Amino acid sequence: MSFSQLGLSPEINQAVVEQGYTTPTPIQEQAIPAILQGRDIMAAAQTGTGKTAGFTLPMLERLSQGTRARSNHVRALVLTPTRELAHQVWQSVEKYSKNLPLSCQVVYGGVKINPQMMALRKGADVLVATPGRLLDLYQQNAVQFRELEILVLDEADRMLDMGFIHDIKRILKLLPARRQNLMFSATFSPEIRALAKGLIHDPVEISV
Ligand code: AMP
Repeated sequence: MSFSQLGLSPEINQAVVEQGYTTPTPIQEQAIPAILQGRDIMAAAQTGTGKTAGFTLPMLERLSQGTRARSNHVRALVLTPTRELAHQVWQSVEKYSKNLPLSCQVVYGGVKINPQMMALRKGADVLVATPGRLLDLYQQNAVQFRELEILVLDEADRMLDMGFIHDIKRILKLLPARRQNLMFSATFSPEIRALAKGLIHDPVEISV
């Protein structure tokens, strides 16, 4: 299997080639076609499996087919448990979207909120965020979810371990019901399955 067989556009394949990747990892082989079809997915995958590209590449492909985010609006939201992971995911999205006219922003706590509010005024096709800061920004009217198309929960088990369940549930209530959901977790504990049940519809289950 090669990347060119996965149904990604030349702009995205070019960015992948520039990263030096020659073959998709097992999670990418399974996740990319399912996400391109618009399916929800639940994937059990550790860090190092290539999961970030596994959701980012098809997410960018789908976003590149629609109209750009309007002021303060977000089209795809990636929630992560820590600012370090948020920053890493944002860097990956920037790399893979370099040949596309899509905007990506990252927000997390522990730093000033004002520059983040300013940055969101332009809107974000992809917003990578930690849950608490995202809610603060929402309360300040800096971010709108009415046009959200895709939600990604990255390292969902760590988000629960870190006590983010209430923040996540509050965020879910703000999102349109009709959206694509992608959930990644190292393990699928009963708690994760309970969370998934409330938000994921008929998912493709992937385990690598
Ligand atoms: P992740 O599991 O998303 O944290 O990715 C782990 C590492 O694998 C990152 O440094 C990626 O740049 C790299 N990577 C992702 N996909 C591939 C691929 N298909 N071939 C080679 N390396 C990859």
